[in-house]
Amino acid sequence: MSQLIRKVWDIHGGIHPAENKQQSLQSPIQAAGIPPQLILPLAQHIGAPASPIISVGDRVLKGQMIAEAKGFVSASVHAPTSGTVSAIESRLIPHPSGMSGACIVIDTDGQDEWLKHSGVEDFRSLSKMELIDRVRQAGIAGMGGAGFPSAVKLSTRDDKPIETLILNGTECEPYITADDILMRERAAEIIAGAEILRHLIKPSKETLIGVEDNKPEGIAALQKAAEGTGIEIVPFPTKYPSGGEKQLIQILTGKEVPAGGLPADIGIVCQNIGTATAIYRAICFGEPLISRITTITGEACSQPRNYEVLLGTPVQFLLDQSGFKKDDCIRLVMGGPMMGYTLQDTAVPIVKTSNCVLAPSVAELPPPPPAQACIRCGMCAEACPVSLLPQQMYWFARAQEHEKLEDHQLFDCIECGACSYVCPSNIPLVQYYRASKAEIRQAQQDKIKAERSKERFEARTARLEQEEAEKEAKRAARLQAAKDKAAAAVSNPDSSKTDLIQAAIERSKAKKADAADPAHDAIARAQAKRDGKVEEETPAAKTERLQLLIASAERRLTSAREKLALAKEQGGESVEAFATAVIKTEDKLIALQKELAEHQASSTSAPADTDAADPAQAAIARAMAKRAGASADESDEDKTQRLQNLVATTEKRLAAAQQKQSIAQEQNDANVAAFATGVEKTQSKLDNAKQELAEHLAQISTKAITTEAASAEQASSDDPVQAAIERAKAARAAQTDMSEDDKLKQSIASLENRIARTQEKLSAAQESGDDKAEILADSIAKLQDKLASAKQQLG
Ligand code: SF4
Ligand code: SF4
Repeated sequence: MSQLIRKVWDIHGGIHPAENKQQSLQSPIQAAGIPPQLILPLAQHIGAPASPIISVGDRVLKGQMIAEAKGFVSASVHAPTSGTVSAIESRLIPHPSGMSGACIVIDTDGQDEWLKHSGVEDFRSLSKMELIDRVRQAGIAGMGGAGFPSAVKLSTRDDKPIETLILNGTECEPYITADDILMRERAAEIIAGAEILRHLIKPSKETLIGVEDNKPEGIAALQKAAEGTGIEIVPFPTKYPSGGEKQLIQILTGKEVPAGGLPADIGIVCQNIGTATAIYRAICFGEPLISRITTITGEACSQPRNYEVLLGTPVQFLLDQSGFKKDDCIRLVMGGPMMGYTLQDTAVPIVKTSNCVLAPSVAELPPPPPAQACIRCGMCAEACPVSLLPQQMYWFARAQEHEKLEDHQLFDCIECGACSYVCPSNIPLVQYYRASKAEIRQAQQDKIKAERSKERFEARTARLEQEEAEKEAKRAARLQAAKDKAAAAVSNPDSSKTDLIQAAIERSKAKKADAADPAHDAIARAQAKRDGKVEEETPAAKTERLQLLIASAERRLTSAREKLALAKEQGGESVEAFATAVIKTEDKLIALQKELAEHQASSTSAPADTDAADPAQAAIARAMAKRAGASADESDEDKTQRLQNLVATTEKRLAAAQQKQSIAQEQNDANVAAFATGVEKTQSKLDNAKQELAEHLAQISTKAITTEAASAEQASSDDPVQAAIERAKAARAAQTDMSEDDKLKQSIASLENRIARTQEKLSAAQESGDDKAEILADSIAKLQDKLASAKQQLG
């Protein structure tokens, strides 16, 4: 039965350089062995370098992860054999520029001791994500050239269904035979890897392995291994550079990957056959990527061959096994003669993408003759597999016209070197393109950095401006609000003040309402007691109440003194008012302290049992004790207060006695006479009390005159604060010979005067947007409280 021959397509351009592959195919794959030291770059792939997870001095086992992938596009690194980490440092790495990079250095111990590992018996039992994760954990990156992390490439999107899976077995570059010998010797592993990839990718149409027809042994081996799998081996005519991903896709399917696009965009996934083998070993045996097949060839090596090489093995270690003669070598090349680059040092290690080390003789790779002027022959354009215009790109590269280079699809150039190969003027065209690409990438990175810096700077500037604008808006709002209130005050003098003052009053009330200050409770109790709303308090309760009142008075005194000190610093009319407040508060505090002392004295002098057994007797005892104390050290004011209270109380008792007498008379009660006697006695007590009060007031009036004179003298001193205090004292002393009504009237006049002055200050503060407006409103509210209280007392 005849087999249908699959149609293949041709690509534009291409060349047919001498293949020189047979030299390294004379012997089978040989294990390169374990070098004394392995050097493992952290960046053996495209993407972010791996991050070390071991420390210097750690012993590591074969297959142990020593650096983990850092980010999505990255690949981890594993120890290729057992040994000790001797350094994590910068070493020469394989790179066209001869640069150095971060490496983990392992001193091998020769034991080749594996980390415990295992694979899965049936990869079909794993989901796509589980398979991809194992590929990621194994650190597999494309082994055919660029080293793109395989896990990323296999993470296809559902909205881009894959039709064709292609395995690349082309290996079109001269001299290199790593894939060819892999196909010859390990075709079954390639097919097993292809089946895993097919299960993972699930191509809807086909799985193909493309191989140039210059590898008949490899093609035969693959065809045999693929029997019954449905995987199709597709040979096609040899031409360089058929091995480029886009070129192979075009050859096998006739489809072209759009410029700047990916194979997945047209329903195709492409993997290298070496990568397929690595995936097979990772899934079925749990082995990470720690070795690869590398061709060591060239006439400077007497024993060219393919080695299975542990990653990190220095090139020199392989050359030593290959009969390398340095003197016969014109230059060492990493890769092939078309796309490879010159190695600066044989200490550089083999990495995941190292498919060949070429050690050519002068005859094989003679120095290029001097470049001549372009003769515009157009041969370069004919050879280009990407249908670019190499000649024009050459001129733009020389003129560093990067925009025009990009317009001419410079980044579609696969750097195959075909144009250089055919150029009759020996112009190293591909080197111009590589250099231009590097310059453009650097410029792009610089531009991105500059843009980010600019964005950060602009964001910071905008933030600062925003903050400043918000502050300014708040300032303007406060000023406007003050102006509005001032304007309202002009049109309605009372309203704005009233609003502000009312708000202050409400705040004050709220403050009082939720005050947990026990002094408030004590004051309330005292007021209730005065109003006759509570029963006689016990001695202990009174002691507590007085102590609380003293504590409260002390706090108020401290506050008043602070305000006075502040007023003294700032100057102004309020000094006098604060001085008065200090004096008043001092007086109250002294009175409370005295009351507490008297109360405690009476409590201790009265026998407890007597007090308990006969309350009347106890009250008499307390009164006597109080009177004794009063005669000893009672102040003028206290005495005035006491006598005034006595007069008021006796008047009440007299009124009550007279009411009882009147009722008794109406009812012809037998006790009318007794009630009349009670009225007479009470009237007599009232007269005595009034007399005593009058004598006392007369006595302290004389003292007040003396005090006023002394205060006036002092007021002329240089200290305005002291003068204010003395004036306040004098005014207070002068009040002592006034009637209660006169005192109240004077107090009302003073308060109204202070309120008026404070309101003027409030208006000024509102106009200027001064923050003191609120404080002044509070002051007015308090003054109005006092004014209302005084007016109420005056009736
Ligand atoms: S092949 Fe060389 S000489 Fe000919 S056009 Fe291209 S660059 Fe010029
Ligand atoms: S190196 Fe670039 S420009 Fe030259 S032939 Fe290859 S793809 Fe074309």
